[in-house]
Amino acid sequence: MASTLIHSVRLFDGNSTISQNGCILLKNGLISNILLMTPSPLPAAETVIDGTGHTVLPGLIDAHVHAHDGEPELKQALGFGVTTVLDMFNEPGHVQSLKALVKNRLDLADFRSSCHAATIEGGWPAPVLLATLDREIATEKIKAWPKLASPSEAEAFVLSNIEKGADYIKLMQESRSVMLGEPIPVPSPELQAAVVTAAHKHGLVTLAHALSQRETILALEAGVDGLAHCFCDEPPSQELVAAYKRNNSFLIPTLVVAASVTGEENESSEQHAEHHLSEKLLGEEGKSCFCKKLMMGRPACRVEYSYQAVKLLKENGMDIVAGTDTATGLAGTAFGLSFHQELSLYVGRCGFTPAEALSSATSVTARRFNLHDRGRLAEGLKADLLLVKGDPTDDIRCTMNITGVWRGGQALIRGAN
Ligand SMILES: [Zn+2]
Repeated sequence: MASTLIHSVRLFDGNSTISQNGCILLKNGLISNILLMTPSPLPAAETVIDGTGHTVLPGLIDAHVHAHDGEPELKQALGFGVTTVLDMFNEPGHVQSLKALVKNRLDLADFRSSCHAATIEGGWPAPVLLATLDREIATEKIKAWPKLASPSEAEAFVLSNIEKGADYIKLMQESRSVMLGEPIPVPSPELQAAVVTAAHKHGLVTLAHALSQRETILALEAGVDGLAHCFCDEPPSQELVAAYKRNNSFLIPTLVVAASVTGEENESSEQHAEHHLSEKLLGEEGKSCFCKKLMMGRPACRVEYSYQAVKLLKENGMDIVAGTDTATGLAGTAFGLSFHQELSLYVGRCGFTPAEALSSATSVTARRFNLHDRGRLAEGLKADLLLVKGDPTDDIRCTMNITGVWRGGQALIRGAN
């Protein structure tokens, strides 16, 4: 595979800026060399890119998506610099075919999935399917989901999910107290704890879906490693902080979807949709879906409560792992673009420095999901990179000024000045 050298460039390594005038050499799909000063003469490479005025950063990782269509979504994500997506509920057959596809297609974002979550009869997310799909198709799909009835079934569920290709285990703590609609059954605390124990026994990370503060705390009491959403139903409490601290759990905020649920942040959505990169990568339909809002929250819900919770947890040293809950056709989201909006909300609303937001988008995620081959600029890691004009550690909006994207050393977009 070709070698590529990017020189005279600022390097953000996933934690901090390590050079204002460095160079990075990509070879055989990996980062083969990083120099903190660009030497003269330049190291030899087949492709040489002058990165003056630009920044190289690790490829972005969206830690919460649902790639229901697959190929077009992974292509769009990569165009926006998202080199890896972590899917948080999908059909095992679809997961297997997407995993096979991304192995050889470096023009698509890499893909990981939880496959099915630890679902129960009548529980979340069945109402989502019944509300959005043809009833017959929805019923057919739901029929194939796990229906855990007792803690003794947890081990078998985890094993079968691993066999089907699950990279981590997702739990559902959802009684529908926040979203409009009738209450639905929730797994018992004993069942949730048994699923977490079984997953940990097999070395897998566990995450829970929860949309209220009360259910978030219940999931944390079951021992989950992370939450797949931030709640928006009330201001964060000290009890919440204590529950996160007890397990050293992380949070995937999915603020873009919280804002869609409550119908807020319209101006931010419009600004992102108007960016020239969105013009290039999203069709009219995609842009209009991105600017729509779900408006499904109960009247007391405020995205401001989510901002307060993210801010409080970060101040208390908890890991914030950037993720959006983007799904095709989900109002308020678009693959790739939503991730940039999510980061801008961390900086604009939750008191993050741009560098902290970028760490949440790269190295923190890699560490929490055991993706040890990516998420940082380091020799020997995958050459999943982003080249942007300007300094995103100074202005987070620069993450959208993309002039180069590489996955596994292969350029999707390449250039600089
Ligand atoms: Zn989700």
